[in-house]
Amino acid sequence: MSTLAPSLPSSPPGAPGALGTAAARARSAGLEERIRQDPGRFRVLTGDRPTGRLHLGHYFGTLRNRVRLQDLGAELFVIVADYQVLTDRDVADRLPEHVEELVLDHLAVGVDPERSTVFTHSAVPALNQLLLPFLSLVSVAELQRNPTVKDEIAHSRQSAVSGLMFTYPVHQAADILFCKANLVPVGQDQLPHLEITRTVARRFNDRYGSGGAVFPEPEALLSEAPLLLGTDGTKMSKSRGNAIQLAAGADETARLIRGAKTDSQRHIAYDPADRPEVASLLLLAALCQGRTPEEVAAGIGSAGSAALKRTVTESVNEYLAPIRARRAAYAEDRGYLRRILREGNERARAVADRTLGEVRAAMNADY
Ligand code: ATP
Ligand code: MG
Repeated sequence: MSTLAPSLPSSPPGAPGALGTAAARARSAGLEERIRQDPGRFRVLTGDRPTGRLHLGHYFGTLRNRVRLQDLGAELFVIVADYQVLTDRDVADRLPEHVEELVLDHLAVGVDPERSTVFTHSAVPALNQLLLPFLSLVSVAELQRNPTVKDEIAHSRQSAVSGLMFTYPVHQAADILFCKANLVPVGQDQLPHLEITRTVARRFNDRYGSGGAVFPEPEALLSEAPLLLGTDGTKMSKSRGNAIQLAAGADETARLIRGAKTDSQRHIAYDPADRPEVASLLLLAALCQGRTPEEVAAGIGSAGSAALKRTVTESVNEYLAPIRARRAAYAEDRGYLRRILREGNERARAVADRTLGEVRAAMNADY
C-alpha cells in the first residue's frame, strides 16, 4: 500500500466542505486499519453510471481501491448504474456500448468476475423495489439540501429537473443496501449520498428492525485522490469533456495534459488550497510514481508548467500502459463481456430477492 498522505484538495462550489471531507478522510484512515486486520468482514458495493469510458478520476478515486479490496479478500459488488443515466438527460444514448465499456474498464484494472459480481441495476427488479419503502424514510427537504444533487442539477443537460434526479440518492441507498454492503469506496462527491444511505439504513432499522438491524450503516472509503480535477480545473467527469480516459492513447493523453489548466507561477509547489490545478496534476504524477506530490514538485522546481505537464504525461502513460494493453485484449471478446453481466445479474438477483424478502417480513408485508 502506498504511504502517500497529501493534504486536502480544495472543494469546488457545491461539494461537501473541507471539514466534512477532513472527517471522512480521518474515518477512512481508521477503516484502513480495520481492513488490514480483517478484510473478510467487508462487503463492498460501488459503481458508476454508464455514461462513457472511465477516467483517471475514477481510477485513483475509487477503482484502484475496488481492486485492492477484492484482492485482500473482501466481497466486491460493482454496479453499472444504468437507470441513473437518466437523472440528468432525457435519453440514455448508446447504452449497450457504454455498459460494455464499463465492464471492459473493470477487467482492465483487475476486477476478477470469478470473485466479484458485476451487474446492471435495471436487471435486478427486487433491488429497485427497495426504493419504495426507502423513499418513505427521507423528507423532501433532505433531498433538496443534498449538495451533490445541486451540483449535478447545475451541470444537467435538461431544462427541467426530473423527480429521478432528486430521488437518485435514495436509489443509491437501494443499490448499496440490497447486498448489505458495509463499505463503499467512492470519490468525495459521493459523501452526501452515502449520508443518505446511512440515514435510510438507520431509520429502517429503528422503524422495522424490532430491536435488531436489518441493514448495516455502510461507511465511505476515500482514496488519496478523492477529487481529481479535469483539464478545465473542475472535477474530472465523464460528461464534462474534461477527462483523460483510461483507454486514451499515449498521444491523446499528451495532448489533453498539454491543454490542462494551470497557473502562471513558474515555481511548481504543492499547494492544494491556493493552486488546486497544479496540485491535482502533481498528485496525479505522484500516484503514478508511488511518491508524494511534494517530492514530484521538488523534482520540477522552477521549470514551470510545461515541465510539470511533461512529467505528468510520462507518468500517466507509463502507469497506464499495462492497463491499456489488457483492455485492448479483453475488447476482442464481446461475448465474454456479455457473459460476465449475465452471470453477475443472476447472482445479484438472488441476493436482492433474499433482502427484499427480509424487508417485507420486517414490514409485515409478507403475505
Ligand atoms: P458523470 O459525469 O456521468 O456523472 P462521473 O465521471 O462523475 O460521470 P460517476 O459514474 O458519477 O462518474 O462516478 C463513479 C465513481 O467515481 C464515484 O464513486 C465517484 O465519486 C468517483 N469519481 C468520479 N469522478 C471522480 C474524480 N474526478 N475524482 C475522484 N473520484 C471520482
Ligand atoms: Mg457523477
